[in-house]
Amino acid sequence: MDSFQETAAADETLDPPDWADMGTLSHRILDDAIAYLKDVRERPVWREMPDKVRSFFSAPLPREPAPVADVYDDVARNVMPYPMGNIHPRFWSWYMGSSNFTGALGDFLAAIQGSNLGGGNHAAGLMDSQVVNWLKEMVGFPAAASGTLVSGGSMANIIGLTVARNVKAGVDVRERGVSAIPKPLRYYASDQVHSCHRKGMEALGLGNRALRRIPTDADLRIDIAALKAAIAEDRDAGFKPACVIGTAGTVNTGAIDDLQALAEVAAGEDLWFHVDGCIGALIAIAPENRLLVAGIEQADSIALDPHKLLHAPFEAGCALVRDASQHRNTFAVTPEYLESAPRGLASGEWLFDYGLQTSRGFRALKIWMALREHGVEKFGRLIDQSIAQARYLTGLIEADPALELMAPTTVNIVSFRHRLNGTPEESLKAFNTEIMLRLQEEGIAALSDTTVHGRHCLRVAIANHRTRREDLDLLVREMLRLGREIEAAASPI
Ligand SMILES: *Cc1c(COP(=O)(O)O)cnc(C)c1O
Repeated sequence: MDSFQETAAADETLDPPDWADMGTLSHRILDDAIAYLKDVRERPVWREMPDKVRSFFSAPLPREPAPVADVYDDVARNVMPYPMGNIHPRFWSWYMGSSNFTGALGDFLAAIQGSNLGGGNHAAGLMDSQVVNWLKEMVGFPAAASGTLVSGGSMANIIGLTVARNVKAGVDVRERGVSAIPKPLRYYASDQVHSCHRKGMEALGLGNRALRRIPTDADLRIDIAALKAAIAEDRDAGFKPACVIGTAGTVNTGAIDDLQALAEVAAGEDLWFHVDGCIGALIAIAPENRLLVAGIEQADSIALDPHKLLHAPFEAGCALVRDASQHRNTFAVTPEYLESAPRGLASGEWLFDYGLQTSRGFRALKIWMALREHGVEKFGRLIDQSIAQARYLTGLIEADPALELMAPTTVNIVSFRHRLNGTPEESLKAFNTEIMLRLQEEGIAALSDTTVHGRHCLRVAIANHRTRREDLDLLVREMLRLGREIEAAASPI
C-alpha cells in the first residue's frame, strides 16, 4: 500500500494542487471579466503600450513554476489593458465583430470539455453539425447541403474555391495535381474582391492570374456585361471558365454584387457560383435589409463569418456547399488509424472530411449559446440596427460641408473624408490620416482607411452591437475639432 502511494505521488499532472484555491482565483477572474465588459465604454478604444509592457513580452521561456495567481496578475497588468479594442462601442476599423459574454462562456466551457471536433460520437460533434444546419437555414440553403466551421472567412472561402476547382477541373486533381488540368481554369470576381481570394488561388496552385478582376460600376458592384465579355474572351483563348465569386458586401465599401444576375451567368456558362458572404450573407436574417442579398441561396458555395455579424469571439467562420457529395469528395480521406467503428466513440461522422484540418476546436458552442440565448431574430434586428446607424452617419456627413461621402452606403460601412479647401489629393490623404491616427491615439474612436475609385478615404464599419447613435454624433464632432486643430497648427499665421 505504501509503495503504491509513493508511485502515485510521483506521477505529475497539470491539475491544480488545490481545487478550492483555483476556485477562488477563478471567481476573481470571472468578476474582473464582467467588470471589464461592463465598463468598456468608459475606457479608451485603444492605447499605445508603454515600453515596460512591450518588454514584458521578451521574458524568456519560463523554466520554473509560478503561482497561478501571479500568472493571472501578469495577464491582468500587461494584456487586458491593451486590447485591439473591437469590443468597444466606438471601434469601427476594418470589419470585426465585437464578441459577447455568453460566447466567451461558451469558449470557456468548450475548453473545459476539451473535445476534439475532428469527429466521433459525442455531443460536441452533434452540436457542430447543428450549428452548420442553423447557418444553412439562415441563408436559405437546402437542408441537404453540407458545411463546416473553420477559423474564419478566409478559410471558408478557400474551402469553396477548392471544391470549385476539383468539380470543374475535368481531371482527378486530388490524384494528379493541377498540372494535369487540361485547360487552365479561370475564376472571376470584381476588382473589389477580398485579398484572401488571391491567397486562395495561390495556395490552390492555380495562381493569382487565374483570378480575373472584373471592373465595377459606379456603385462598386461587378459589371455583369464586362464579366460576360471576359468569359467569352477566355473561352476563345483556350481557358476554361470555372468559377465566379460574387461578393455580398465588399470590405472596401460594403457593395453587394447583383447575386441574381451572377447566378444566371453561372448557370448559363456552367460556372461554379461561390459567394463571399463574410460581411453580407447574414443580412439574410435581417428583416429590413434581407432583400439586399437576394440570390445568395442560389450559390454553389458560400463563405460566411459568425465572428463578424454574430459577434462570436474569434475565431469562427463557416463554409457551406450546396452539393454535400462534391464537398466531401474534395476532402475526405480515411487513413487506417481513423476508420469508423459500428458503435462507440468512433461511430459518429468524421467532421474532418469537410476541410483541411484534422483536429478541430469546439467552435460551435459559443455560437450555439448566444443564438439560443438571444434567438436569431434579435441578431437580425442588430444587423438592421447597424445598417440604420450607418445611414444615420451618412446623413450627418452629407449635412456637413466639411465632410464628403466617398462611396454610396449600402450596408454598415461608410466611406468618407474630411475636406480641406483647395488642397491637392496627396495632402488630403495626409490630413485625413492624421485625423484617423489622433482619433486612435486619443482613445476616441478607431477608424480605418482605404482607397476608393483611386481616392483615399476614411472608413467606418459598424459591425458592432454596442454602438449607439450618440457615438456617431461624437465621432463627427471630434473629427471636426481635430480637423480645425490640425489645420490651425499647419497654417502660417
Ligand atoms: C473579413 C472578410 C474576409 C476574411 O475573413 P476572415 O474571417 O478575416 O478570415 C473575406 N472576405 C470578406 C468580404 C471579408 O469582409
